Amino acid sequence: MLIKNIDIIRADGTLVNGMNVAVKDGKFAYIGKEMPEGYWGEVLDGKGRVLIPGLINTHTHVPMTLMRGYGDDMPLDRWLFDRIFPFEDKLSAEDVYWGSMLGIAEMLASGTTSFSDMYYFCGSIAKAVIESGIKANIGRGVSCFDETKKFADLPAYSEMLELVKSYHKYDGGRVLIDAAPHSEYTTRPDILADIAEFAAANSLRVQVHLSETQKEHLECVGRHGKTPAKVMEDSGLFDFPVTAAHCVWLSDIDVEILAKHKVFVAHCPQSNLKLASGIARVGYMRQQGVSVTIGTDSAASNNNLDMFEEMRTASLLAKGVTLDPCALPANEIVYMATRAGALAQGRKDTGDIAEGYAADFVILNTNRISMTPSHNPLSNIVYSASGADVETTAVNGRILYHKGEFLTIDIERVLHEVRAHVKFLLDK
Ligand SMILES: [Zn+2]
Repeated sequence: MLIKNIDIIRADGTLVNGMNVAVKDGKFAYIGKEMPEGYWGEVLDGKGRVLIPGLINTHTHVPMTLMRGYGDDMPLDRWLFDRIFPFEDKLSAEDVYWGSMLGIAEMLASGTTSFSDMYYFCGSIAKAVIESGIKANIGRGVSCFDETKKFADLPAYSEMLELVKSYHKYDGGRVLIDAAPHSEYTTRPDILADIAEFAAANSLRVQVHLSETQKEHLECVGRHGKTPAKVMEDSGLFDFPVTAAHCVWLSDIDVEILAKHKVFVAHCPQSNLKLASGIARVGYMRQQGVSVTIGTDSAASNNNLDMFEEMRTASLLAKGVTLDPCALPANEIVYMATRAGALAQGRKDTGDIAEGYAADFVILNTNRISMTPSHNPLSNIVYSASGADVETTAVNGRILYHKGEFLTIDIERVLHEVRAHVKFLLDK
């Protein structure tokens, strides 16, 4: 594929005008002012367009699109126990497949090319990822409320083994399986230690929820005499590459622990605001050397999976709480939503527009209202555009979404199946 005469925004926010970009074997083969030699297949005209790295959503639960708008404006406990858990109790593998397809379609249409997920019925999520062409790190969430059970006794253990065998590194690593202890408060230190061992034995990365709410954080201190981050460090979980979601209530010492172990943080500002969990100290964490990435969390608490909205919220929130309009500027936000996210997923060749990198990219039309005038395309992308301004989304050089059309997803069928499955679930 050849993209002619297009402006590029790199992962560090740098703008380069009028470049020709050749894609071969799923990677950026050439980027330069000169027209590349040879035949490059499909040609896209880049005039009036801007090319950015695909956005990377480092924390979501994609099948929960089924619960979009099913419980809002409620205290967290009631939201979970009266709405979310009873709904989830009824879910089947097929429901999860259709919910995943809906979420993946939403992400592709709004410029996300890779996501990190934690849920169950992960075979259904993997199937949707494989069919749609998107990239994903999929984790089977592990929780355990039965004191008599060890990690190896849990259904999640055998499911994780099966997932690793069937899907880990599928299609050249497009699908990766992560280990995913749900959180401190839904597991125990011995389970966290066993999961760490499992991750080591299978060379997996780890996803976990960490200090999302004040209640969770304080109850852990009451239970163990230490914070959730310290419990995780002591159980050996942080000896592996970890992405910790939320991190709203971390103490200064917790942040030091995360920096020491190079734990990535998945900052989910809209979900934290909507559930009134609080506001993560992103500026402080970054100052202390923690790499912060961006996630939407699920559509049950967001209520969409639009990473453009998430970028803008992250930046505005950082400015508002610090009373500093220079906090988290647009270039740093774009880095967090692209290259930092790719590194958190263990995808070293992903997250930038550079030769040799995976050709995961998004094209926006700069003639759209939100992108006009084009004083500063980077500013428009972070502060003005939304996912609806995405024209083209490609993963490994394969166009998956273009001008409103999905090339791998039968969207009418997905919408129909989701409506039918939700109706059936609520009738149960
Ligand atoms: Zn979550």
